[in-house]
Amino acid sequence: MRVRLKLGRPDLARYSDRFDVPEARDGELSVTFLGVATLLVRDGQSSVMTDGFFSRPALRDTVFGRLKPDERRIDDALGQAGVDGLDAVIPVHTHYDHAMDSAVVARRTGAAVIGGPSASHIAQGGGLPDDRIVVAESGDTVRAGAFELTMVRGAHCPPDRWPGPIEAPVVPPARISAYRCGDAWSVIVRHLPSGKSMLINGSAGWVPGALAGQAADVAYLGVGQLGLRPTDYMTHYWSETVRAVGARRVVLIHWDDFFRPITDPLRALPYAGDDLDATMRRLGELAREDGVPLNLPTLWRRENPWR
Ligand SMILES: [Zn+2]
Repeated sequence: MRVRLKLGRPDLARYSDRFDVPEARDGELSVTFLGVATLLVRDGQSSVMTDGFFSRPALRDTVFGRLKPDERRIDDALGQAGVDGLDAVIPVHTHYDHAMDSAVVARRTGAAVIGGPSASHIAQGGGLPDDRIVVAESGDTVRAGAFELTMVRGAHCPPDRWPGPIEAPVVPPARISAYRCGDAWSVIVRHLPSGKSMLINGSAGWVPGALAGQAADVAYLGVGQLGLRPTDYMTHYWSETVRAVGARRVVLIHWDDFFRPITDPLRALPYAGDDLDATMRRLGELAREDGVPLNLPTLWRRENPWR
């Protein structure tokens, strides 16, 4: 058997024209991308955040060491993003690159952690009081400030390296394998004052038909590992998310190399773990067919995908 390994990584400069989500004006509802699947949605009064993952430990530490939240990186990132309070932190699933910092971010900002039972174990292990942990069932709608969050159970993109639920509190430092996947959520965020809505699909997987009957103006799609899946998988993913909710703009997340700090210039994951070029090729075709813009978000920037 011959194994062909593609070296290097996709060059983001090829996609420079995709980084054109409109910038938000003062006072507008905005979305700020903070790496991997961390998104900050705020209107000036209320704010919610997915994941809140800022520690981004180096690859060698994830493989050989035990992980614990890097409080300095977390504080620096929250400071740079201008976050003083949050109404909710929603880990899209409980792998370390999503959920590991969620308890610290919630403690710092006064937020509740909203997720499934696995997320509640991370929040408890991270010292968040029980009255700030919300355990959701698929289909539940939870209020957070001016937002309504509808939690729909989805699926993780294969391969899921640490599948299954977390069954006991995770107290850091912990091995990477302690951060099992738990529930993989599709979250519909609805901003009640404006009626604007978005789908945040953290991982490139789906439960067939799960989003039928849901609506969202824009879709933020996690594409981690998607580029290694066959073309028809990508098509299916698009149908079960973008087409299911009728989104009129698509913004891709979870493509950056999260083994280095957020303060370094973002670069794509290496071909060994993903292939953003393949993702952009196929999703680019689907976006053209459907007549919807396909964008990449700009780190730190307040953007208005609804404009
Ligand atoms: Zn994952």
